[in-house]
Amino acid sequence: MAVVTYAGGQELQEKLIVRPTSETIICNMYAKWLQSYRDLPIMMNQWCNVVRWEKTTRPFLRTSEFLWQEGHTVHETEEEAREMTQKMLEVYKEFAENCLAIPVICGRKTEKEKFAGAVETYGMEAMMLDGKSLQAGTSHYLGQNFAKSFDMKFLSREGVLKYGYSTSWGVSTRLIGATIMAHGDERGLILPPVVAPVQVIIIPVAAHKEGVTEKAREICEQLKKLGVRVKVDERDMSPGWKFNEWEMKGVPLRMEIGPRDIENGQCVLVRRDNHEKQFLSLSSVCSIPELLSSIQKEMLETSRVNRDARIKVSDTLDGIKQGCDEGNFVKVCWCGERECEDKVKEYAQATSRVMTDEPCEHEKCAICGKPAKKKVYFARAY
Ligand SMILES: [Zn+2]
Repeated sequence: MAVVTYAGGQELQEKLIVRPTSETIICNMYAKWLQSYRDLPIMMNQWCNVVRWEKTTRPFLRTSEFLWQEGHTVHETEEEAREMTQKMLEVYKEFAENCLAIPVICGRKTEKEKFAGAVETYGMEAMMLDGKSLQAGTSHYLGQNFAKSFDMKFLSREGVLKYGYSTSWGVSTRLIGATIMAHGDERGLILPPVVAPVQVIIIPVAAHKEGVTEKAREICEQLKKLGVRVKVDERDMSPGWKFNEWEMKGVPLRMEIGPRDIENGQCVLVRRDNHEKQFLSLSSVCSIPELLSSIQKEMLETSRVNRDARIKVSDTLDGIKQGCDEGNFVKVCWCGERECEDKVKEYAQATSRVMTDEPCEHEKCAICGKPAKKKVYFARAY
C-alpha cells in the first residue's frame, strides 16, 4: 500500500493510506443501504484510478497508478453470487477473445495466488509473445467474508437476518499492454480491427497527379458510409514514410492508390497482421468490412495456434523449469500443497496461473510425488 506522510508542503499529522481496492468503502455503504431481500441483488460498477505500491514499474502492466473498472455485487444466496462470479469471468473472456483477439485461459487460482479476502478467485491468463503469462482480469467469489466484516445483513424471505453473499471483479488498462504484447512485431503495433481507432488508412501515391487525391477521398467517404473508421493521409510526406508510420501504429489495413491503379480501376491493399498484399477492384470496396472481420478472426486463431503450441506437459520439476525457460506454459499435476508451489517458484521462477477442471486421479504431484489433486498451469508471469 502507498502511505502518504507528506502533502501540501508539510508532514501530515495523520498518515493517509491509499487503498488498492475498494471493498472497504463499498461494503460500508452497502451495509447501510441493505435492509431486506428486496434490495438484492445490488450491483455497482465504478471506473476509478487505483494506487498500488510497485517497486519496479512497467508501462501498462505494472504502474503505481492505473485506471480500472471494479464491480461489486451482493446476493441473497451463495448460488447467485457464484453464478455472477462466473458470468463476469465469461464477459471478460468474450471481450479479450472477440475484441482484443487474445485467447485466454480461465480458471480458479490456488490458495496462494487468490485475492486475500476471497473464498475463490478466478483469473484469465493470456500468453504474451515471449511465452510469459499476463493476468488479464479477475473475478472473486467473496462468500460472506466481507458481509461479516462489514455487518452487511438483510432481512430474508423467512424473516430472519442473514449475511449477504458478495462478489467483485475487475479489468484494467493492463489490457492495453496485453493487446500490444500479444500482437506486436518488430515494426510496431498490430491492432485487431474491432479496437483499432483507424481501421483503414488510405495513402495516395503520386498525389500531385490529377484525380488521385479526389479518388482517395471518394473511397474514404464510401467506406465511412459502411461504418469503417478510415482516414486519407494527405500530409506532404513520401508514401514510404507514411507506410512505416501507419505500420508502427498498427492500422489493420493500408490502401495505396496511384494514377496507374485508378487507370486499372483498382487499388492495393496491404494487411498489417500478415503483410499480405492484394489488388482490389475499386468496384469491390464494399467488401472491406468483411475483410476486416476476417482479419479479426484470423488474429485470434493465429494467437490460439501459437499459444497452444507452447503449452507443454511435465511431470518433473526439471521439466517445469525447462518448459518455462523455453517460453511455455507448463501443465502439471499437483498435490494441492503450498509447499510444492513454493518449490516451483524457487527452482523455476514460475508461479501457478490457474487450475484446470481436468481430472488427475491416479496421477502423482510432479513436485513431491504424492497423489495429485489438481492440474495447474505454471508459467513465468508479468
Ligand atoms: Zn506436491
